Amino acid sequence: LGRGWSGWRWGDAGEKMVVWFADGTSAEADAVIGCDGVKSVTRRMLLGADSAVLEPTFSHKYAYRGLVPMEKAVEAVGEALARNAQQYLGHHGHVLTFPIEKGKTLNVVAFQSKDGDWEDERWVLPTKKEDMINEFAGFGESVQRILSLMENPDMWALFDHPPAPTYYKGRFAILGDAAHASTPHQGAGAGQAIEDAYIMTNLLGNANSVEDIEDAFRAFDCVRRPRTQKVVVTSRDAGSLYDFEDETIGTDLDLLKRNLETRYNWIWDEDLLQQLKTAQDIMSRKSTS
Ligand SMILES: Cc1cc2nc3c(=O)[nH]c(=O)nc-3n(C[C@H](O)[C@H](O)[C@H](O)COP(=O)(O)OP(=O)(O)OC[C@H]3O[C@@H](n4cnc5c(N)ncnc54)[C@H](O)[C@@H]3O)c2cc1C
Repeated sequence: LGRGWSGWRWGDAGEKMVVWFADGTSAEADAVIGCDGVKSVTRRMLLGADSAVLEPTFSHKYAYRGLVPMEKAVEAVGEALARNAQQYLGHHGHVLTFPIEKGKTLNVVAFQSKDGDWEDERWVLPTKKEDMINEFAGFGESVQRILSLMENPDMWALFDHPPAPTYYKGRFAILGDAAHASTPHQGAGAGQAIEDAYIMTNLLGNANSVEDIEDAFRAFDCVRRPRTQKVVVTSRDAGSLYDFEDETIGTDLDLLKRNLETRYNWIWDEDLLQQLKTAQDIMSRKSTS
């Protein structure tokens, strides 16, 4: 809605919910769904300001992000490395490159680990290219060449959410990053938000009255919370693997290869129709009980 929240009122049975905005306006609705991203205000309202799992947590990793015109990337590292997604692994850092904009541009994300807290209140900082290049001094020639081509890289602190005990309360729900912001190491955050929206909209489509909405939200919470929170945890784990920080696998490339061959299957091969059916069953059982 493009307006900051200032407060809200639960709707008792038969009543609308009311949301007040910072500009003094208000809105009434049968239900409220917050999808306002990792710095979510609606998460705060749902979980309570004193919740121990409210705030995003620094994942001890940050990333330099930048773009390189594809023709320059091809010149620097050749067709195969530039035009196909690559991940260059290292100790406490890794570099991911993949083509975007129908192959016109190479997207570069260069990750580094960091002990301690993230001190700056900003999560995206301008940075000096030389500093970035120094941090990857131990990497091979392809990485050096690509990093040297990055124009104006930004430094992004990577945060994720501790697991919320619920994604709904009454007729108020949260979804997407507001519910389960993840680090980007599995490339799955937006995908999970889309899955959330798919399940949520279908369940709400099955609601025949305002009274059914809470059942829809409960079913949503049942099927979505375990999966999305597993994505958050395994994404952090993936970051450790790529940075040779995993205690079991470390620098054992055979073990790492075997792990990577299957570790994404449960994310990619999910049967969403089945997941929806499970949620619909949960919703209908609750409605008739
Ligand atoms: C570095 C990085 C790389 C990533 N790479 C990938 C990837 O490769 N693949 C992938 O699937 N995911 C990736 N993600 C994660 C992905 O970006 C998020 O999971 C996704 O954007 C979440 O969608 P969302 O709609 O829940 O939240 P957002 O995309 O954050 O959208 C929330 C929206 O709410 C708006 N908003 C907030 N407050 C208010 C307010 N008070 N009033 C009105 N509007 C408000 C915001 O302006 C924003 O537009 C990456 C994330 C990062 C940080």
